[in-house]
Amino acid sequence: MMKNRYFKVVLALILLFSLISTSFWIGKASHTDDRTLMEKNLQESEQELKRLEQDVLQSEEEIEQLKEDLQRSKKEIDEFEKQIASLEELEAENEHLKSRLDEKKAEISSLEESNTEKTEELDELQRQLNETSSNSSNESESNQSNHQFVNIPETDGSKKVFLTFDDGPTTTTPDILDTLNEYDVNATFFTIGQRMEKHPEIAQRTYYDGNMILTHSYTHDYAIYESFDRFYNDLELAEEAYENVLGFEAPKIIRFPGGSSNHSSFDYGGKQFMPRLTEDIKERGYHYIDWNVSSGDAGGLSKQPEAMLDQIKHSSRGKDLVVALFHDTAPNQATADILPKVIEFYKEEGYKFRTFRDITDEELNDMVQNRLANKPIVR
Ligand SMILES: [Zn+2]
Repeated sequence: MMKNRYFKVVLALILLFSLISTSFWIGKASHTDDRTLMEKNLQESEQELKRLEQDVLQSEEEIEQLKEDLQRSKKEIDEFEKQIASLEELEAENEHLKSRLDEKKAEISSLEESNTEKTEELDELQRQLNETSSNSSNESESNQSNHQFVNIPETDGSKKVFLTFDDGPTTTTPDILDTLNEYDVNATFFTIGQRMEKHPEIAQRTYYDGNMILTHSYTHDYAIYESFDRFYNDLELAEEAYENVLGFEAPKIIRFPGGSSNHSSFDYGGKQFMPRLTEDIKERGYHYIDWNVSSGDAGGLSKQPEAMLDQIKHSSRGKDLVVALFHDTAPNQATADILPKVIEFYKEEGYKFRTFRDITDEELNDMVQNRLANKPIVR
């Protein structure tokens, strides 16, 4: 019994020992496995870390690159802005030059007009000389141009002045209208169609103040003297503008740009253009009006009001019928400034102020006789 129990104890001890040793070996074995696994994991983690570090390095490089790009773009934008600023400057400069050019053009056209007036005055003097040396030809000319005015009137001996203003309406025109109203006199305005369209209300006021408006041209470009087509197209446009602005048909009384005996036409339709055109337009029932007193305000005297006034007084001497030429163009402030003195002068000299608004056949006939209307151009 005892022996059996001992055996049992020994057996139990053996069993325990084997169990312990087995579990030891098993434990040892599994411990080794864990270590290998962990080492492997560690290696992998290290590799992953390295990769991540590389990624970070790469990203940093990319950020650097992007920063550089941004810097470059900023510089380019700065460059563009500078270019835009200098372009804007150039544009402003360009605008300035354009307006200077326009001013110069206006000055040139004024000078051309005054030049034409001077040549016209010379022509007139030459013609007067010719007339005194050959009376017979003068008579035949007068008879020719008188055919449409049958009633040659008895003159009442009174002196008459027709103040005429060309090339408006402009912003200067209202000043002139104010002065005319102040002195209770009226005038005639030979207008440019394009300017009628630009300042319709000034044109309307001009007419409603009791003055007359007649056509001068649509463009006032001397190239209209290139051909009949060009001339009559321009006249038609001027008449359309007239009717659109004033609401009634333009009378067939005009003033040629530069006057009927202008030399500006030489460059376009040639020397014989005005002789042909003046005949043709008369056949179409038109009257064209020139002048026998020039203020010189479109030329060299435009800035010398006293000299203008002297010239007006001087060239009005001995004339019972005066058609005086002025310009209500925008730079002609001097014209508006001397107008009161001009009106006072004619009043003192006993002139009656007349316009083409209520001109009589007799007066028109007088103008033809005095070569102020329908003057034959012979070259
Ligand atoms: Zn003109």
